[in-house]
Amino acid sequence: MLAAVTPLPPETVPIAAARGRALRRAILAAHDLPPFANSSMDGFAVRSADLDGASAAAPRRLPVVAVIPAGRVALRPLAAGEAMRIMTGAAIPEGADAVVPFEDVERSDPAAAGEQVLIPRPVRAGESLRAAGADLRAGAVALAEGRELSVHDLALLAALGEPRVPVGPRPRAVVFSTGDELLEVDEPLRPGAIRDSNLLLLTQMLEECGAVVARAERLPDDAARVGARVREALAEADVVLTIGGVSAGDFDPVKDSLAGLGAIELWRVAMKPGRPQAFGAPGGRLFFGLPGNPASVACVFEALVRPALRKLQGHAALDRPRIPVRATEAIHSRAGRTDFIRATIERRGDAWWALACGEQISGHLTPQSRAHVLAVVPEEMARVEAGAALEAIVLRWPDAG
Ligand code: AMP
Ligand code: MG
Repeated sequence: MLAAVTPLPPETVPIAAARGRALRRAILAAHDLPPFANSSMDGFAVRSADLDGASAAAPRRLPVVAVIPAGRVALRPLAAGEAMRIMTGAAIPEGADAVVPFEDVERSDPAAAGEQVLIPRPVRAGESLRAAGADLRAGAVALAEGRELSVHDLALLAALGEPRVPVGPRPRAVVFSTGDELLEVDEPLRPGAIRDSNLLLLTQMLEECGAVVARAERLPDDAARVGARVREALAEADVVLTIGGVSAGDFDPVKDSLAGLGAIELWRVAMKPGRPQAFGAPGGRLFFGLPGNPASVACVFEALVRPALRKLQGHAALDRPRIPVRATEAIHSRAGRTDFIRATIERRGDAWWALACGEQISGHLTPQSRAHVLAVVPEEMARVEAGAALEAIVLRWPDAG
């Protein structure tokens, strides 16, 4: 699937609109950060050499020859035997190499003429100042290509004077659910019918993953209708997804319309939940035919759709972080397929322990609602004993409830 995905051409957006987007070009620092040496305290800029041997018994008295508020610079260098009153963030005057904070000195009345400061200790060169470039050097990589921009990355860009950045565009997605049994959320139940939960689920997961859902529509089990709508959608969207109707039943409209769609194939993926699927990249657009069960939609999205969507946007990291977990109870699996176990996690000592959310029934909704992770039982493993080590895809942390 990933081989069929080519990242969309980047677009340039204001940094205030770039949160969560994939940075498409490395950003180098245009200047030192901080751009100039400045004080980290309110105090007195001094030459450390002037205070060699100073002590409470033998404090040094220095005349205060200037005041430097933040945003201003001293009009002349600091000469030997002098001090300048300086505020946090103000530029260190030439000649000074340290700042002594107000709390450590005795001051004469700052309003009176001939202000003086009495310093009762030596200072280390560099004390209470922030050197130019100490945070980031001019020319250094501030942010690497492919990075998912965090709020802190955006603040860094602001400090570096980068008002706009090239990012991956939001893929346009169209979603269809299929099924004669499906009702609107606000429709009353009738015999044989259930409410459509997957259309909302998939729409929300797509949006959470950076896509714009241009259309989300429910279709009946009518292959001609589904085929026509999918064809139309493929002409306008970057990604088209269907839910259900892709297995071997008598009324599976996605499966039955595939022949007419071109470049889309039925797949049987060695995973549970989520085995029957359809996938293709007709005309450079992506098509995902997801199975209909709620757990299948959730797990196929995590395992396959999400990485593809992230690659489309130019993200370097395609997968969610995984953590090592230990199985609280034995888990039945089968060799030859990857199982995604919806599980909660709990920290015990220095390990995370994963407990399956009840029976892993693909038609159920509550396990996904309760789960913190998808514990991954690899293909070659048939049974997971209690206490066995697994990896888990983190969906959310237990703190979230
Ligand atoms: P299908 O693959 O179409 O046979 O669907 C498999 C199972 O998922 C059936 O029990 C469907 O009723 C159910 N299902 C399909 N689509 C949805 C949906 N959009 N919302 C909730 N359940 C669905
Ligand atoms: Mg169906």
